[in-house]
Amino acid sequence: MIVQPNRDSIQAASNALLAGQLVVLPTETVYGLAADIRNETAIASIFRLKGRPNDNPLIVHLHDQSQAKFVARELPDRFFQLAERFWPGPLSIVLPKHRVLSKSITAGGETVAIRIPDHPVTLGVMSSANLMLAMPSANPFMSLSPTRADLVSHEIESGVWGILDGGASKVGIESTVLDLSDQQPSILRVGIVSRQEIEDCLSEYIQTGGDSTKSPGQYRRHYAPRTKAVLVTEFSQNAHGISFSEPKTDHIILAGHDPHEYAKNLYAALAELDTLGVEVIEILCPPETEEWAPIWDRITKAATPL
Ligand code: AMP
Ligand code: MG
Repeated sequence: MIVQPNRDSIQAASNALLAGQLVVLPTETVYGLAADIRNETAIASIFRLKGRPNDNPLIVHLHDQSQAKFVARELPDRFFQLAERFWPGPLSIVLPKHRVLSKSITAGGETVAIRIPDHPVTLGVMSSANLMLAMPSANPFMSLSPTRADLVSHEIESGVWGILDGGASKVGIESTVLDLSDQQPSILRVGIVSRQEIEDCLSEYIQTGGDSTKSPGQYRRHYAPRTKAVLVTEFSQNAHGISFSEPKTDHIILAGHDPHEYAKNLYAALAELDTLGVEVIEILCPPETEEWAPIWDRITKAATPL
């Protein structure tokens, strides 16, 4: 059930979470499937409902920076610099976990990823009961992340208290994941918060894609439509697909001229093309520059065959 957010429904969603139910909540990245981090049964339901492998850790969402000390063991200076600059926002920070935090959230590991999402509805749900939420994207494992309430699948909808409708996600792709649990900070997943911005904030060099064993859940195929997707340097005749420049036919969706606008529209465009029953979705290769790196990451994964 899609629920319009107001004072009563935000309170009701918060109560449902406290009672151990799952709720789909809007964030600026994508819609999330939320559970109270203290409720083991609810955490287990997230993995079951998504069909998510147990070795893929969940990001813990806070509504206030001061909650970080309850889930992370150490908060280095870098953490405070980044949190001041980028939160609320699409940057998840990996830190050594606090001993009380359940390992079912961290997939058995000793680190936890945390962030404050930038959406008033979800911040309202959390702050009304001082909640911290484990919240992966609200999609079945491997499939497209929903960026609007109506794009959440019936499978997911059937297992939750409700879907709070917070409009279209304004970032549109998953958060940047930055690992601070080692001496040398490194980006484990690229996103809209860029390496350059992180380097400017910390005044130091940042590695990308460092140690792949530290980045569980980075599967080769991910974020994919059911229809076969391919990357092309030129559209075929009568192609159905996605472009970053003015399309010449009605069957091509212009996702955006720049990577930010493109990120915002990408998943909805793939979802729309997925309903057409076409054989192939063609995705025009964007420029090979660093600012397009998060788009390259997502479209490459979408186009990796099963
Ligand atoms: P999402 O797909 O948005 O639910 O984000 C979860 C992803 O964040 C995982 O698949 C990992 O790639 C990353 N992640 C979450 N927690 C950790 C962690 N403790 N260490 C490294 N990466 C993590
Ligand atoms: Mg996901």
